[in-house]
Order: sequence, then C-alpha cells, then structure tokens
Amino acid sequence: TKVIYPWFVRHAMSPKPFHYTKECISCGKCAATCPLRNISMQPDAQPDASGRTRKHPVWGSDCAGCLGCYHICPRHAVMYGKSTRKKGQYFNPFV
Ligand code: SF4
Ligand code: SF4
Repeated sequence: TKVIYPWFVRHAMSPKPFHYTKECISCGKCAATCPLRNISMQPDAQPDASGRTRKHPVWGSDCAGCLGCYHICPRHAVMYGKSTRKKGQYFNPFV
C-alpha cells in the first residue's frame, strides 16, 4: 500500500482527464453535485452560433474521484479521458 497508493492517487485519481463533450447543455449539474466544489462553470471565450456566451465546466485539482459529476450528467457529456467513452452511467433515483 505504501508504494502503490501514492502512484494510484497521482495517476489514477487525477482530475486532469475530466472534460466535457459537445453534448454538454451547460446545465451545471456536474458543478452543483461535486462534494468538493471542484468544478466551476466558466464562460466560453467565444459566443456560440446564436451569439450566446455559454458556460461550461472546468475541473480544478481538488478531486476525490467519486465520479459524481460523471454519473449525474443528463447528456453523458462528462468524460474521463477515453476510458468512459463507451461506459454507462448510474442515475440515483433519490438525487
Ligand atoms: S452536467 Fe453535463 S450537460 Fe450539465 S453542465 Fe455538466 S457536462 Fe454539461
Ligand atoms: S469526481 Fe467527484 S470530487 Fe472529482 S470533480 Fe467529479 S464530483 Fe467532484
């Protein structure tokens, strides 16, 4: 554990691979559900085709790896690198 755990935290629990896809509808649920407030909704640099400046999630470095942001997204737009591309989601009926 002493040897493996620091490696695991650094390489397998890093929030860096988190990103959103074009399916994102800017609902903010991923940011609202994060228990560590590690996700902020930040405005795009450019307005979209309709002239609206939308907000999208940006992940910080304080992540517990709970995957709450991944599972709560209504559009399956939260991805963790390539590893979640073909994976399903669990929707908690009580949340
Ligand atoms: S929950 Fe999904 S659709 Fe909503 S802002 Fe986050 S990534 Fe976008
Ligand atoms: S995995 Fe959990 S702790 Fe990390 S950003 Fe997503 S909701 Fe927050």
